Order: sequence, then structure tokens, then C-alpha cells
Amino acid sequence: KRKRYNDHLRASVTQTIEMAVMDGLTGLHNRRYLDSHLQTLFDRAVARRRPLSLMITDIDRFKSINDTYGHDGGDDVLKEFAARLRRNVRGIDLACRFGGEEFVVVMPDTEGMIAEKVAERIRAEIAGTPFPIGKDGKMIEVTVSVGVSTLQRPHDSAEALLKRADTALYEAKSSGRNRVVAKAA
Ligand code: GH3
Ligand code: MG
Ligand code: MG
Repeated sequence: KRKRYNDHLRASVTQTIEMAVMDGLTGLHNRRYLDSHLQTLFDRAVARRRPLSLMITDIDRFKSINDTYGHDGGDDVLKEFAARLRRNVRGIDLACRFGGEEFVVVMPDTEGMIAEKVAERIRAEIAGTPFPIGKDGKMIEVTVSVGVSTLQRPHDSAEALLKRADTALYEAKSSGRNRVVAKAA
């Protein structure tokens, strides 16, 4: 009986720890996890003189998806988006839900040109294949805008890397959405 109780306790603690760093809806890591790991990945890239790239994705006009198909419809899109994102990045990449309909992927050992190609592949897959909504087989078109940034030596920081990707994302939005913009420096 005691063993069963201990097992239960251990499982419950593990689950609680997991909940603190995972996003419940998509199963990706959450922003808290990114906040504590981006610096580590950044320091490692600098120490090993390896490239490092990052992308921020933001679903276009997501508010109108919610308005048209309800919050559950929006959630379906978020889940499918996260699944496609995961399929399109490598195991060593850190993919997380940054908040709402924004996601961040940190790509160790990845030059800017490659990161841009990965981002473009994701953009194209989102725009090219409709998303299923609800249970009655309804499909809708979704697009995404992406900002990409790359580690610039010698004076760079994890915050600046994130900030540049965000600036690039803003440019992608204001220049028409459904596109990838990369910021060199
Ligand atoms: P833009 O193309 O400029 O990005 O437009 P947008 O409508 O995507 O941008 P905005 O930031 O105005 O809207 C984001 C919406 O995402 C608003 C919010 O209600 C919705 N949202 C945030 N979190 C969730 C969630 O967990 N589930 C659902 N269904 N919607 C969410
Ligand atoms: Mg947004
Ligand atoms: Mg959006």
C-alpha cells in the first residue's frame, strides 16, 4: 500500500513539474521554459563558436478565426499548427508556444540561410494545406508570418536575438502577412 502511495506521489510531482514548463493545449514547451533555456543555448553557441538561429511565428488574423469558428475552432488550429511545427523542426530544436498564437523555435547549429529555408517551408506548409476544424470535416485556410534572426558575433545577446526576430515578424506583418522576413543584424 505504501509503495502504491509513493508511486502515486512521484507521478503527481512529475506531472506538476511538467505542467510548469509545458503548454497544456499544444504539448510544446511554454514561455517559462524558453525563458530559462534560451540563455543556455545562446551561451553554448557562443562558447563553441557555433551558429544559432531563432524564429517567431504568428498566425495571421487569428482573431477572426476565433470570431468565425469560436474559441474551440481556434484551439483546433493551434493544436494542428503546433503539430506541423514539430514535424518541420529537428529534435535538437527548441519549439515552444510563446503565448496566444505565437510560437518560437530556437535552432542550434543553424546558419541564417538555413533557418530562413526552414521558416519558408513551414510558411508554405501552413498556407498550402487547409486546417481541419471541429468534427464535421470542415477545413479552413490558415496563413502565418515568420520573423527569423541569427546570432551575430561578437556583440549579441539572447534578448537582442529575440528582439530582432520580433522586429522581422512585425515587418512580415506590415508588408502583407503570409511571409518570412529575416533580420541579419
Ligand atoms: P495578426 O495577423 O496581426 O497577427 O492578427 P491576429 O488577429 O492574429 O492578432 P491578435 O493579436 O489581435 O489576435 C490574437 C488572438 O488570439 C486574440 C486572442 O483572443 C486569441 N487567443 C489567444 N490565446 C488563445 C487560445 O489559447 N485559444 C484561442 N482559441 N484563441 C486564443
Ligand atoms: Mg499575435
Ligand atoms: Mg496573429
